[in-house]
Amino acid sequence: MARYTDPKCKLCRREGVKLYLKGSRCETVKCGVTKRKGMSGKFAKRGKKLSEYGVHFREKQKLKRFYGVFERQFRNYYNKAERKKGNTGENLLILLERRLDNVLYLIGYGFSRSHARQVINHGHITVNGKKVDIASFLVKPGDVIKPINKEDSINMIRLNVDSNKNLELPSWLELKESELECHVLHLPDRDEVSISVQEQLVVELCSK
Ligand code: SF4
Repeated sequence: MARYTDPKCKLCRREGVKLYLKGSRCETVKCGVTKRKGMSGKFAKRGKKLSEYGVHFREKQKLKRFYGVFERQFRNYYNKAERKKGNTGENLLILLERRLDNVLYLIGYGFSRSHARQVINHGHITVNGKKVDIASFLVKPGDVIKPINKEDSINMIRLNVDSNKNLELPSWLELKESELECHVLHLPDRDEVSISVQEQLVVELCSK
């Protein structure tokens, strides 16, 4: 499957926000966005005024890049969100948040969403006892996520979880660290979605 090959920090700088694409580096002063915000004078990026379309488009790009999805897949999420009852924008965010790679990142099984995708693609993860190697798999309440019952997989996930000790879990996920078992308690609320985004702008663009 195609992937972004541009340097990841460039994507964040383009959107002007931290998209957390590089794991622990994103929390340090080495972060490209933090550095740029600390700059002043001639080194600071001169803000270019966006057209109305540009504002809507950038919001959509921000969302796609944060979750690492491409246009066609994003369209599928949007269509699904539109068919569901309730607010389309919220439905869209909740669908994206339920992706297995996102969940793995939130519980510390991966250092970034792209690293979590690798962990899944390499066959290290089970959901409800069955191997799942599709990063876009959508979790649902009652699901139990664990490493596959192989020593290498368990050791690797244990190491990742131990290195990600300070993570604050959202209320919809519970991690039993000793068993490396993650339980999906309920669907995420809008307020718990990982990204700060104006989803209404994305809906206005996609519904045209
Ligand atoms: Fe984005 Fe992380 Fe790079 Fe900062 S360090 S610019 S958050 S990818």
